[in-house]
Amino acid sequence: MYLIFTYIIVIVIIYNYNVRISTCFINKEKEMKLNEYQKIAKSTAVYPDGPQGVFYLTLGLCGETGEVAEKIKKVIRDSDSFYEGLEKKKGEIKKELGDVLWYLASISNDLGFTLEEVAKANIEKLGSRSKRGKLHGSGDNR
Ligand SMILES: [Mg+2]
Repeated sequence: MYLIFTYIIVIVIIYNYNVRISTCFINKEKEMKLNEYQKIAKSTAVYPDGPQGVFYLTLGLCGETGEVAEKIKKVIRDSDSFYEGLEKKKGEIKKELGDVLWYLASISNDLGFTLEEVAKANIEKLGSRSKRGKLHGSGDNR
């Protein structure tokens, strides 16, 4: 019994101090908040510090985005039915989307943003465009 309490206390301390934690402690049934994901992503980050780190992460984001595109391309190339092929590859695509999310979380972290701040800013931008009838069209500041 004493060992179980000690184990629980150690896990709580590790989690609260954002020390590297193993993903085996994650409750897969519970919904995960974006900022919670970002903290876990940070605990797995291994890349150079400083400006070089942001370059590294940006290249990684581009690479992983390309991997998503590559999976979709191969569905088109290798499947008689796009939707059947897509269904078969969904698991692989999900993993690549996770890699994209990891880089997005890490870049946001290095720039001092939480993922929730980034998500809220995007929703506000889209809401403003929607109200003004500017969802279509081009330009970053419409
Ligand atoms: Mg990948």
